[in-house]
Amino acid sequence: MKQNTSFYTVGRFLTYGELYQIKGLLTAQRIVHLVNEHGPHMGLNSGSCYYEVIVSGEDKDVAKRIIGKYKARKSIDRLRCPKCGHVNHKRVEIKSAIVKLYYMGTTLVQCTKCKKRFGI
Ligand SMILES: [Zn+2]
Repeated sequence: MKQNTSFYTVGRFLTYGELYQIKGLLTAQRIVHLVNEHGPHMGLNSGSCYYEVIVSGEDKDVAKRIIGKYKARKSIDRLRCPKCGHVNHKRVEIKSAIVKLYYMGTTLVQCTKCKKRFGI
């Protein structure tokens, strides 16, 4: 049986939290993986580091699918209301300069279910 011994990066620029969750998903599927740590400060859980996940060629497609699903779920979770978990919201126009400053870099939205306002 011919084995594919090449290695592929299936995830990069991951935070430690993302790495921790992806490692759990890959391990559950018995996918052996390596982790490269990049950044100025070495040592796990350093805020300025990012991580890269590498798998063998034979696991590449399955690992990419697992990480793709993880990222899709994470991007949906980012849109969830922090109070009730609902995903539908509407954009809120900000009139106050102070509120604009507070939400700078994000978009202020209001949950259509519980009316909580939050930045996304
Ligand atoms: Zn809500």
